[in-house]
Amino acid sequence: MARFCVGLTGGIASGKTTASRAFAALGITTADADIAARQAVAPGSPGLAALVQAFGTGILDVAGELDRRRMRERVFSDPGAKRQLESVVHPIVRRDLAAQCAAAPGPYAVAVIPLLTEGGGREAYAWLDRVLVVDVDADRQIERLVQRDGISLELAGRMLAAQATQRQRLAIADDVLVNAGAPDALARHVGELDRRYRQLAEPPRVFAPY
Ligand code: ADP
Repeated sequence: MARFCVGLTGGIASGKTTASRAFAALGITTADADIAARQAVAPGSPGLAALVQAFGTGILDVAGELDRRRMRERVFSDPGAKRQLESVVHPIVRRDLAAQCAAAPGPYAVAVIPLLTEGGGREAYAWLDRVLVVDVDADRQIERLVQRDGISLELAGRMLAAQATQRQRLAIADDVLVNAGAPDALARHVGELDRRYRQLAEPPRVFAPY
């Protein structure tokens, strides 16, 4: 059972997935908030029932599954609806990630939480022992986002603007992984962090007077 849980966050296309794969390659269990969020509203789930109660059956598709596009449209220009959606999904995701980390084998586990800063920061995730922020300058971030998702520069800029700022993110960081170099530099830094986290996860040593 992992004693120690690291929250990994960063802006869109900063390199969270790439970094989490590097941890996984070192044998570390990683849990993903995006996957947990999809499972939280899977057909038949209490999460989906709560959303239907809040927003009505209009958010379902013909198969009775959550129609994500409709849900997005519903909350797009309505901050109250967005808060309501998050008040259903976020607590389920937090509980799920905490449980996955606790159950993970190995000395520590990594929870990838893209919206850690936006979703209440450290207070909302009090069970995290450490927060690692993947950081990259906005120009590189936009360049990688455009290349990965094949979107326009303009849309990429708007997506960045809708997220927490670099300053807000760095304010909750214990460790910062600057992903401005080549992918192998990122992997090397993950190796260094892995050694650090293994040490931090060790139980306290007892030096008794005998
Ligand atoms: P996130 O999970 O934070 O959205 P990704 O890990 O998917 O970000 O990285 C965004 C894109 O940038 C991906 O296409 C990835 O392959 C690429 N990428 C990540 N790190 C680097 C790097 N150091 N150099 C070049 N490309 C990178």
